[in-house]
Amino acid sequence: MDLGISGRQAVVCASSRGLGRACAEALAGAGCSVVINGRDHEVLERTAAVLRDRYGVDVTAISGDVRDAAVREALVAVKPVDILVNNAGGPPLADFRDLSGEDIHAGLDANMVTPIALVQLVIDGMTERGFGRIVNITSASVLTGIAGLDLSSGARAGLTAFLAGVARKVAGDNVTINNLLPGNFDTDRQASIIVTTAERTGKDTDQVRREREAAQPAKRFGHPDEFGAACAFLASTHAGFITGQNLLMDGGAFPANF
Ligand code: NAD
Repeated sequence: MDLGISGRQAVVCASSRGLGRACAEALAGAGCSVVINGRDHEVLERTAAVLRDRYGVDVTAISGDVRDAAVREALVAVKPVDILVNNAGGPPLADFRDLSGEDIHAGLDANMVTPIALVQLVIDGMTERGFGRIVNITSASVLTGIAGLDLSSGARAGLTAFLAGVARKVAGDNVTINNLLPGNFDTDRQASIIVTTAERTGKDTDQVRREREAAQPAKRFGHPDEFGAACAFLASTHAGFITGQNLLMDGGAFPANF
């Protein structure tokens, strides 16, 4: 399917690896120029080189922490920004009793305040030009409590609620804001959860991985490219009538009827 966004400019935060990278790849594959970002300069440059080579599009690499206002300004400096994919690392697994005030503020900063600040930077340009697509990578933890991920749930639910009203305000200018909620995807974050669980339970990592996959209705983790494809669709011209929505991608793990 032609997504109708060839030549559009996309900014994808935290995209040197994992789900963010998969979104950047899918958008580059649809012909978008992409601005990518990550904290590790070398990894980011390697990702940029792969994207240029594979898709033949303009790729700008901005290294740095997306929580840093100067990094955010640099990310949106390549204008006009037609598509924004908000992403940042999630909080580490922790018992909520052990979270300090500082930890809680850091989680809110990464997963709520930072994406809102980026929306503030790009939204007026999008409404003026009559085209904009914003996709926020949140988490299945918005819908259901997950042990140790209470801060992820709280910060991302805050983002979701904050932007729900904004989405309705800008819908008339062909600007959409949607959230993608990953369940268990096969990324470095997943690998680090497997290592932590193996250490805690004394099992080996292969066994933990097999057990975690077997516990999914789909009997596997999601592939990052499946996630990227959904992101590119939400960013496409075809998705102009979809806004303020939360698309759960979890292979059936959340057992809701509706
Ligand atoms: P990942 O750790 O595999 O990759 C994250 C990438 O973002 C890395 O390249 C990292 O360097 C970069 N990054 C992290 N924090 C950053 C920051 N502050 N500024 C700039 N770059 C930053 O993670 P992932 O699995 O791709 O997850 C992406 C998001 O989705 C995270 O918020 C995660 O909590 C959430 N999530 C992931 C899963 C999953 O199964 N993978 C499930 C639910 C939620």
